[in-house]
Amino acid sequence: MRDENNNEEDLKLDNSYNQESYFDDHILKARKKEARIFAQKIIKSLKINEAPVNLREVISHVQKDFNLVVIPDTLSKNISGIIVKLTELEQEFFVIGFNANDPWCRRRFSIGHEIAHLLFNTLCDKRESGNSEREKECEFFSAELLMPKSILKNDFSKIRNIPELSKKYLVSSAAMSIKISNDSLLK
Ligand SMILES: [Zn+2]
Repeated sequence: MRDENNNEEDLKLDNSYNQESYFDDHILKARKKEARIFAQKIIKSLKINEAPVNLREVISHVQKDFNLVVIPDTLSKNISGIIVKLTELEQEFFVIGFNANDPWCRRRFSIGHEIAHLLFNTLCDKRESGNSEREKECEFFSAELLMPKSILKNDFSKIRNIPELSKKYLVSSAAMSIKISNDSLLK
């Protein structure tokens, strides 16, 4: 599940994540890295080399492995997306609902986030805390999916303007600034 309070800005917490232990911290880092690699593999296999990433193409790609439908939904205000597994006639299928009231760039991010839950098999029944490891993993996946570092690096060298870049990538300016920072593109 993705709620408004768990917006892209949570990614900022990456380095300041409250460490339970050295070991947990390393597992979390590895999982985030894995999430990004997973997104990069999808981008690579779809031969996507420019922004904006065509989310329809990504969904079709995922649908090869999963019985999945993506639908607009009238979710409550603070919920951006949700994924549920349904079983009918012994066949399981998944439904991703995205908040139809959200701006398009947020919907894209939410869909990416829910796809991550599907791929990482982290669907859950109860509402999780916005800061859980699973949620962060999904945020990282979605950010990499919509703003692949391989493409962004090149664009950022030419377009040093966050609003312009976010328009090109169909993401929010907030998501774009966090990604640029996480990818250390300013260095
Ligand atoms: Zn979630």
